[in-house]
Amino acid sequence: MALKYSSKINKIRSFAFWLIFAGFGVMYIGLIFKDIAWLMALFMILGMGFIGLSTVVYFWIGMLSTRTIQIVCPSCEKPTKMLGRVDACMHCDQPLTMDKSLEGEEFDEKYNSKRPKKRKAEHHT
Ligand SMILES: [Zn+2]
Repeated sequence: MALKYSSKINKIRSFAFWLIFAGFGVMYIGLIFKDIAWLMALFMILGMGFIGLSTVVYFWIGMLSTRTIQIVCPSCEKPTKMLGRVDACMHCDQPLTMDKSLEGEEFDEKYNSKRPKKRKAEHHT
């Protein structure tokens, strides 16, 4: 497969990780400007903001985890968590689907859209 997909939870988790990293980075830059009090304070607050945001993201992951479905990956046979109708295995990035009608279809994040297409229903008249 040419395109590489990764599990949504893994994606969010790495995003939260980089937020912490960015937060500490920004605070470290603040230390360079320790002679200029307001500039150092600005970087410190910004850095703490990043770390605070990542805490929120980690909390969000916790919330999302309660909505995931535990399945065994058919490709690597390890237990993985699925979020939404289509997701990727957390271990081998194998695209997975909950919907039989989407089986064999090209993996597409848009299948997770909360608004289903109603075009077919309109042709009843
Ligand atoms: Zn797998």
